[in-house]
Amino acid sequence: MSQDNSVGAENRRRIVLQLRDQFLDLARASREEVDRYSLNELKGIVKFSKQRIPWYTNSLESVTDVETANSLQDLLHSLPILTRRQAQDNFDGLYFKGPNHEPSDYVIQSTSGSTGKPVSVMKFAPLYSAEYDALTLTEWQLNKRDTSKVVTTFRIVETEAEDVPLGPPLSYIGATRVHTSRSILKRTIPELLRELHRLRPDYLFVNGVVSRQLALAQLESDFEPIKIEQFLTVSDRIDPQLRAMISDVFNARIIDRYSSEEFGYIALQCPVHDHLHVCSSSLIVEVVDDEGKACEVGVPGRVLVTSLHNFAMPLIRYDIGDIAELGEPCDTGWNWPVLNHVSGRIRDSVTTPDGEFRLVTFFDSKMLGTRKLRDYQIVLFENSIVFMYYVNEELDETERHDIESELQEAFKLPLPIVFRRMDSENWQNLWKRREWYRATTNYDPSWNETELISKVSE
Ligand SMILES: [Zn+2]
Repeated sequence: MSQDNSVGAENRRRIVLQLRDQFLDLARASREEVDRYSLNELKGIVKFSKQRIPWYTNSLESVTDVETANSLQDLLHSLPILTRRQAQDNFDGLYFKGPNHEPSDYVIQSTSGSTGKPVSVMKFAPLYSAEYDALTLTEWQLNKRDTSKVVTTFRIVETEAEDVPLGPPLSYIGATRVHTSRSILKRTIPELLRELHRLRPDYLFVNGVVSRQLALAQLESDFEPIKIEQFLTVSDRIDPQLRAMISDVFNARIIDRYSSEEFGYIALQCPVHDHLHVCSSSLIVEVVDDEGKACEVGVPGRVLVTSLHNFAMPLIRYDIGDIAELGEPCDTGWNWPVLNHVSGRIRDSVTTPDGEFRLVTFFDSKMLGTRKLRDYQIVLFENSIVFMYYVNEELDETERHDIESELQEAFKLPLPIVFRRMDSENWQNLWKRREWYRATTNYDPSWNETELISKVSE
């Protein structure tokens, strides 16, 4: 490694740790101080955007009293909402490249196709990645993780790592243990469970679906009980039932997060409660109703996110397409706003025959407590609602009846519920997990499993 590289690496380490310290200070600040910080940062990005970003020069033309605004809510509500569609269609008018920066430092990230037409977001990589790493370390500290403990990953990984050093940013805070990862696509659940007992991690990076399957496999196995301190989950919605199951079976706590391709981290797990805290260091989250008015605590609404530091492509009041609800202020002294939970995506909605728009969500649904259900997926076909499921032991009449009632209640559509038992256990990891899928064909009971899967993932 050349000297320049090591100087660069040391500089980066210093910057990330300084940022982390600022974030930790903000995590200890009063609500008024957090609000004041958000207001100042918002003024900064709004003024910059009006001046430099063609889209905002137009859309914010009538917003003239940015400097004098003294309420965060008032300033936010004077700004228009940016829809996903607008961001998709106006990419060229939404970014700014500083003349003094390396062009290669500007990167474009796109949302995955599973959320509809992808949205591309430009970021200034050196700043974005430093802030991302600083938030990782902030979260690590707030959830009191110990860098000398064992970390294992069971995720979708291209190459499995065997005893590999952890690297930045955890190496910045003295993590010296090696790390092993296993691919959830290449390994079966019994294999992963064996690996879990062999590796004995203190912290396991995993998704919600595999967490559930591991817990159920452990219950059915002859393995002695095993304690894992924390399950660090991403990408699936975490229900209270799953938290309870992971606590029962592995004596572990689920540490969740809410993130997206557009923004990176959006909210982090509270170290004490099941709710999440908005990353006030880096963005503002609003929850609004269909008229754009702020929702009360506990009332679900659309999530608007404002990124405070993405000067390459400012996203101001961006409608990310999720439904969530704000919570009461937290009693732990961490004053970043509380999200009780993120309950679904706008795309997870249906219009009933009488024209009613319904968000269909299975958050906190009773059927998730049915431990016989190793895995399931709900698919809305044109002619029926299909409940694809995997079990070792067939569901009994009561269980089927309960599931059927929940599905009828959630969709309120005049369609039959079809139960389709799946032969294999690994089909679910093939997709990005969704609340439920919509298929644009009729369901045909004569399809074999491969045909059915291909219809859903089209
Ligand atoms: Zn909290």
